[in-house]
Amino acid sequence: NLNGNFDVAIIGAGPSGAVAAAQLARNGHKVLVLEKQHFPRFSIGESLLPQSMELLEQAGMLQAVVEAGFQFKNGAAFANKGLYDFFDFREKFSPGWGTTYQVQRAQFDKILADCATKDGAEIRYGHAVESYTEIDDNSVQLHVYDEQQNEYDITAKFVLDASGFGRVLPKLLNLEKESTLSTRISLFTHIEDRIGLKYFDRNKILISVHPENNEIWYWLIPFSDGRASVGVVLPRTIYEQHQHQEDADILKYFIYQTGKMSESLTEAVFDTPVGKLAGYSSDVTQMSGKHFALLGNAGEFLDPVFSSGVTIALKSAILAAETLDKQLRGEQVNWKNDFEQPLKLGIDTFRQFVEGWYDGSLQTVIFTKDKNPAVKAMICSVLAGYAWDTSNPYVKNPKRLHVLAQLCQK
Ligand code: FAD
Repeated sequence: NLNGNFDVAIIGAGPSGAVAAAQLARNGHKVLVLEKQHFPRFSIGESLLPQSMELLEQAGMLQAVVEAGFQFKNGAAFANKGLYDFFDFREKFSPGWGTTYQVQRAQFDKILADCATKDGAEIRYGHAVESYTEIDDNSVQLHVYDEQQNEYDITAKFVLDASGFGRVLPKLLNLEKESTLSTRISLFTHIEDRIGLKYFDRNKILISVHPENNEIWYWLIPFSDGRASVGVVLPRTIYEQHQHQEDADILKYFIYQTGKMSESLTEAVFDTPVGKLAGYSSDVTQMSGKHFALLGNAGEFLDPVFSSGVTIALKSAILAAETLDKQLRGEQVNWKNDFEQPLKLGIDTFRQFVEGWYDGSLQTVIFTKDKNPAVKAMICSVLAGYAWDTSNPYVKNPKRLHVLAQLCQK
């Protein structure tokens, strides 16, 4: 019998769903995770930030991640025409981890989900949530269907939507709001990279900017097995000019237009279908309600440029699990103050950095020679994911970035 009553139902077993499930199950709550797909499954978003190590540690999942043997990562490198500079995350301003990993998400997400199962959460793979109904003051009902065409209902005291770009509750409850960020298209794939360059640093994500249009940028994320994730981000209008071509050809066309990327990937073998995500930036009118909260990408998603997605997803899960645990134990909580505001603090820092990237100010800062080491450490902290550390002046007031860019231009 698939029906049942749960304390918490979670939609989606990606990083945010798995972490929230583990935290709540460990605290003795009856947790059901409904996951539409079967794991391991592909997901984009392979470059982690050091801040996520602390969050994985809090979730009790760090050891499993460390033992998986993912590619070590200690920073981010940036290239634009002849310019090249990098941030070593160990030289950041904020205390905490300065290194992390570049992970194949199929494997990484499965590790986190398996940790949640070990901690006592039930995960049903191949089960999709179709509707959400508030029944009374204390419970909601989810309508679920599985691959055998079974349909059933479960009830829960609270629902966490961790459905990523599925955005189940924003769609069902009409919470979607247009992002203030422009519509962009991303094309990506996994390759056998065969990078032969002696000076290529596999321990860093490489972000390259197109030589003529600084709104077009690329990522190259090496893995530990000789493979890599590669992708391009294009303004929609530019993508539309190429729409007569196959996505795989568009991706290669742009890669081989850019010095550092084409130099690194001369021998690369493109052996995997190209994926596309369009208009991925999204926002919501509210991140929580009487019986629900939105985690990770189901809430707000900004932009992939600083690899902040998984870190924000994990942070949202930890904050929501703490708040919900208190609520289920009968304590008074306030979701706006305890969950939304603390989460938004970091999202807003990243937002200023993303806007700064596309308006050119952050690129000016990144490619300025002879940076002030103290200021570089503060910028480095945000790039390492410490976007919640208000002792960093660039977190306390991220608009300072624009003032800094003006100083760099003088
Ligand atoms: P997800 O990991 O997307 O998991 C959601 C799960 O919900 C899925 O498994 C899905 O099957 C399930 N689901 C959906 N609908 C339903 C339903 N109806 N019922 C049941 N289950 C359902 N982030 C980084 O940290 N580093 C990066 O380098 C990076 N690069 C990116 C590049 C691009 C182009 C994009 C678009 C994003 C990138 N991101 C990156 C962001 C990252 O992919 C996401 O932020 C992260 O995966 C969010 O995790 P999540 O737990 O919110 O959701």
